[in-house]
Amino acid sequence: MELLDYCRSLPKVELHAHLNGSLSDATVLKLLSAKKQQGDDFSASAEHTHTHTHTHTHTHTLRMFRILHSITDNLDAVRTITQDVIQEFASDNVKYLELRTTPKNIPNKMTKKEYMDTVLEAAVEAMKKSNIRVCLLLSIDRARGVEDAWSTLQLAKEYLTHDVFGSLVCGLDVSGNPHSGDLKDYLPVLQEAQKCGFKLAVHLAEVSSNTETLAVLNSGLVDRIGHGTFIHSDTGGSEELHTVVRKQNLPLELCFSSNIKLGTVKNASHHHLGFWKKENHPVVICTDDKGVFATSLSEEFFLCAQTFHLTEGELHSLCLSGVDAAFLSQVEKQRLRQEVQKELDSLKGKLACQ
Ligand SMILES: [Zn+2]
Repeated sequence: MELLDYCRSLPKVELHAHLNGSLSDATVLKLLSAKKQQGDDFSASAEHTHTHTHTHTHTHTLRMFRILHSITDNLDAVRTITQDVIQEFASDNVKYLELRTTPKNIPNKMTKKEYMDTVLEAAVEAMKKSNIRVCLLLSIDRARGVEDAWSTLQLAKEYLTHDVFGSLVCGLDVSGNPHSGDLKDYLPVLQEAQKCGFKLAVHLAEVSSNTETLAVLNSGLVDRIGHGTFIHSDTGGSEELHTVVRKQNLPLELCFSSNIKLGTVKNASHHHLGFWKKENHPVVICTDDKGVFATSLSEEFFLCAQTFHLTEGELHSLCLSGVDAAFLSQVEKQRLRQEVQKELDSLKGKLACQ
């Protein structure tokens, strides 16, 4: 089997996917056409932007996010995007998906609760149609202030005792513009979240921010690190940060295309995966925003394998490290591991020599 086909066949685990950024072109065009039928003149220029400028400058990416926000401003669209995104991950042989999203409040259209209920209902529906297990992380946006973060935690807590959604909401994510706000201000919210039993995935050190990163790591509240680009002492972090992450054995969610296209990493061979892999530190390959960065989890595996000349055994280990880092109970993890291992065994020896 050639490398890309092999990566497509791997039973994969996706732990860092933002719902809105994961929309495929097909879904975006479907929603734009729905807007057009409603006589929304915004859609004409948006469609032009979407179909004619598939480049990834920072400005373009921001414009893309604005378009995505506008076309998902109603509950029907929220249902559609959730189902489409889950279906696409399932088609890419993703066995377990942790999807993250910031609860949206749009006056006269939806409350945060209605938004999350719709996402969760759609996830339940999508799981019935495909062989994929999905969990949700509610995102705290560091640009929206601490009050907003408390309200997101409050909403997450409401699901704890829900008979269906309770098992689907597995944690919180902290994301948003890394230049905005100070994560240290959010530590009381994260402390309370941990007390309630939520797992925490935090976007850390996406840009050089040693003081903030160290304070958050030293709080002992982080279960997984998103990106962690500027942590390793060989990639602009510090020996101190590097040591704390090693000591806590914190898994890193690494998003190759996202980092390269946004320019936080110079090129593929300079990606921090190389440094962490050498130390056998737990890392998980993820997409971040598969729609915005025009990628898939299989393509991310392919890119990593090509760049770092990964062997078949190393690719299998990456799939299993996704299982280990999942925010699931030990029993569910064991079940997932068995399923993934079974498919991995059937793929042994099938990768053509690179
Ligand atoms: Zn992210």
